[in-house]
Amino acid sequence: MTAYQAPDPKGFFGEHGGVYVAETLIPALRELAQAYADAKQDPEFWKTFHHDLAHYVGRPSPVYHAERLSAHLGGAQIWLKREDLNHTGAHKVNNTIGQALLAKRMGKRRVIAETGAGQHGVATATVAARFGMECHVYMGADDIQRQAPNVFRMKLLGANVIGVDSGSRTLKDAMNEAMREWVARVDDTFYIIGTAAGPAPYPEMVRDFQCVIGNEAKEQMQAAIGRQPDVAVACVGGGSNAIGLFYPYLAENVRLIGVEAGGRGVSTPDHAAPITSGAPVGVLHGFRSYLMQDTHGQVLGTHSVSAGLDYPGIGPEHSHLHDIRRVEYTAANDDAALEAFDLLCRYEGIIPALESSHALAWAVEHAPKMDKNQVVLVNLSGRGDKDINTVAKLKGIDL
Ligand SMILES: *Cc1c(COP(=O)(O)O)cnc(C)c1O
Repeated sequence: MTAYQAPDPKGFFGEHGGVYVAETLIPALRELAQAYADAKQDPEFWKTFHHDLAHYVGRPSPVYHAERLSAHLGGAQIWLKREDLNHTGAHKVNNTIGQALLAKRMGKRRVIAETGAGQHGVATATVAARFGMECHVYMGADDIQRQAPNVFRMKLLGANVIGVDSGSRTLKDAMNEAMREWVARVDDTFYIIGTAAGPAPYPEMVRDFQCVIGNEAKEQMQAAIGRQPDVAVACVGGGSNAIGLFYPYLAENVRLIGVEAGGRGVSTPDHAAPITSGAPVGVLHGFRSYLMQDTHGQVLGTHSVSAGLDYPGIGPEHSHLHDIRRVEYTAANDDAALEAFDLLCRYEGIIPALESSHALAWAVEHAPKMDKNQVVLVNLSGRGDKDINTVAKLKGIDL
């Protein structure tokens, strides 16, 4: 892993990524790519970014040795990268701060976003308030019904939540609507995408903002144990928290594991695990990558107990890292994630997000088979307060 260079100038990671959008969007993406290339080389931009991460988000987030959980499992030492301690409770804010700063630099005064479960909508509304920008969040009409607390959070933060009634009335339709709005008002509007996906330059840009996770972890693990972990694990929805942890480790001798949502099992139709289930390559949301689809190319429905992993595609860089065998992709089923969720609550006093519980599930399964001197670093991408209603319902408890 000496010469890893991605993406190429056309936004491809191997055969994945690129720009697959209507002609009308090309100028907007070109302007964005130019502005980001410029910002990426400007030390002042990164200085402001890290200042906000320190004083607003509360970074660096610590690494934490989960000693009681490790002892209970009886094998490798489990360490957690505590993204759950960030302001707003997850890693998503690292990216929305970065994109909002870029919007400001480009002179845009409005930001728009799409959201499914509402987590990215909340992270966007948060930074829009912080930077004094107008904020419009597109959300499927069905998702608005299902995610009432997050809709209210966005409104408290001053955002305008726009219900999308077309199609399946969920994330996919919200994304189409946001794209349409971006084309119509590109002169004053910045589109904030929430994961390491979408047309170039988004996957690279989101990765760069989330790399703060892996860069901090490398320094912190060196300081804590004098070396790097044997394994680093993260859950993969679109793939932003995972690529943020993995990227700085690509050139190191560290085994990297991406955990997709196995739902009711990857051999059933009810999962969200494109790579593990062997999905073919397809195009969705402006980029090419592994994509769950039927033989006619129709995008398949997905299922996961965690809303944040419930996506039929995966960011293009992960597909490439799978192709070149640098990262191993696997899946954890709903049941395994829920068991890991319970264990972290009971042994460490930390309620993890259901998304992050998928990464933990890998450690719960594999740590016992490893040596006590080995170290597994799990990215705890978010806290689970948002998930307690889901968990209660699955346990048959009425809150
Ligand atoms: C949104 C979310 C995810 C999934 O998104 P990625 O882009 O794959 O990181 C994972 N964990 C939490 C806590 C989330 O909110």
